[in-house]
Amino acid sequence: MYAVTIDDVVCEGCGECAQLCPFEIITMVDDKAEITGDSSLCTGCESCVVVCEPGGIALQEY
Ligand code: SF4
Ligand code: SF4
Repeated sequence: MYAVTIDDVVCEGCGECAQLCPFEIITMVDDKAEITGDSSLCTGCESCVVVCEPGGIALQEY
């Protein structure tokens, strides 16, 4: 299982992580990325981590 966390101070609101996640785990809320979907579906693909230029997304396996 993977835990995805988004730092909403670092997030610049580009929306790319939300577009890339194949499971729609991330959506944009008031121009900030938020984990609103079923995070248990996360496969740890790292697409969201890699696309986030300011480095606002962290992924941890547990
Ligand atoms: S990719 Fe990073 S900066 Fe862009 S919306 Fe997602 S968390 Fe925010
Ligand atoms: S690591 Fe992949 S599956 Fe998990 S939240 Fe990010 S884009 Fe979605």
